[in-house]
Amino acid sequence: MKKLLLIEFYREGNGLFSLKQNTDPETLKDEFGSDLEIIVPQLSELPNPYELIEEFISYDPDVLCFIVNDANSSIVSSFINLTSREYPEIECIEKRINDTSVEIDDSALWNGTKAFLTGLYPNIKDMGLSAKHLYIEDLTDEVLKNVSNYIGINHNIFHTGDYSFSSKTSLETGFLHSNDTLVTKKDENLYRFDMNKGESVKDIYISDYSKYVPNNTKECYVALNTKEDFELFKSDLTDLYNTGRITKERLYIPDIVDLCRFFNCMNCSIEYMPRMRISDSKIYTCHSSDFCAGSIEEPYFKNLIKIKHSKAVEEKKRNCSECPSNLKCSRCLALPEYLKDEFCDFIRDEKDYLYLIKIVIAAKILCNCGVFKNIEDIKAVTPGNYYSVNEESAHKFSLKFDSFMFSDDNKYILFTFEKGKIYSVSKQFFELAELAARGYTVGEIADKCDIPDDSYLNVYEDGFVSTVIKLRECGIME
Ligand code: SF4
Ligand code: SF4
Repeated sequence: MKKLLLIEFYREGNGLFSLKQNTDPETLKDEFGSDLEIIVPQLSELPNPYELIEEFISYDPDVLCFIVNDANSSIVSSFINLTSREYPEIECIEKRINDTSVEIDDSALWNGTKAFLTGLYPNIKDMGLSAKHLYIEDLTDEVLKNVSNYIGINHNIFHTGDYSFSSKTSLETGFLHSNDTLVTKKDENLYRFDMNKGESVKDIYISDYSKYVPNNTKECYVALNTKEDFELFKSDLTDLYNTGRITKERLYIPDIVDLCRFFNCMNCSIEYMPRMRISDSKIYTCHSSDFCAGSIEEPYFKNLIKIKHSKAVEEKKRNCSECPSNLKCSRCLALPEYLKDEFCDFIRDEKDYLYLIKIVIAAKILCNCGVFKNIEDIKAVTPGNYYSVNEESAHKFSLKFDSFMFSDDNKYILFTFEKGKIYSVSKQFFELAELAARGYTVGEIADKCDIPDDSYLNVYEDGFVSTVIKLRECGIME
């Protein structure tokens, strides 16, 4: 009896390719005859195409039957080409269905582009080992041949030049065509990203931080490419530290390329290599870095091991294990040359730049979801900007690293990334919360509030203790 393995490729509503278990294999018997054993494999995630082929072959099939929606047949055709090349003795059948019920929402694909540029991938550890995004200058067949083992099925490749994918590409190069995005420069800072030959097109503005000019492009990025960019960035953050105000458009409108460098330690994805820039056959792991992991002729795992080794050596050199900031610092391995000497001082600075950067992101989120109307009206409590205490008597600010306090003329908001919660509180609660976050004791608060009689102290104590308990319950304070 012949064995037929039934595999269904589809595109999820979010635009990404996936596999699903076909629930109606019996109908195929009418088509192929009843002396057929139809196997529906247990399918999980999408690894590298070659690993997936091996997974299918482990069922020892005579026939591989791929079911795919008409509109998405290109990925299956490429996959069949690869399988036939590796296992010519196995018959591959493509069975097209015409399912118009799936409306493709390409926002997930563009979110992937954002992750590639900022370096902030959600759930890095669950992504598996294969590249998701590659930026290749002047793409050629030769480069595709070399990177074909690096990529997962759900990849997105950005390329410049005039390369055009064809049905023969996977046969000639071994590269599985999934989503490709042609990047063309429209003017000095404006790039057109054209995904899958016009399926979705976006203009993206990318400039140096110091050269940002307000523009009408919806999607904007700035990169800290030079010392000048970095100094200006620091000075904008220092303004925020002193005033609690975010006033510079270049700080709050665009996203920041390689923001992962200044985010949580868990956001560094370099050891998983989901993103790569390829230039002259060399692999650069992060968008704006000089760190070269190796060459595309070398196997993926060899380069991964080299990265892990380089990271360990660098951390030892910097003495990260003894560093007071080691729990929050990215320990970025791919620092641009101008930042190499300054990075650790920046991270450890008492102004707590990393917290200030998060304040900007938190404020953007609160404006985007309508809690505040205008980012320039917001005042944040920062380590250097005091809401209810004066500078002379201030204690060190110790709100949790992912929690924030904002106010405008009539709103008092506490916000935590960790729990994804926004709390609207009274002015009095907000003031007490700041005192608690700065580590004031009840006695100090009583002094500050000028209590006329010791008998009132219990009332203050109760109020303060319940504020602290509430803040802890909400995940705002340790
Ligand atoms: S090495 Fe640096 S730039 Fe690269 S992912 Fe890690 S933190 Fe980001
Ligand atoms: S600040 Fe420097 S020494 Fe400290 S953890 Fe980060 S990279 Fe390591």
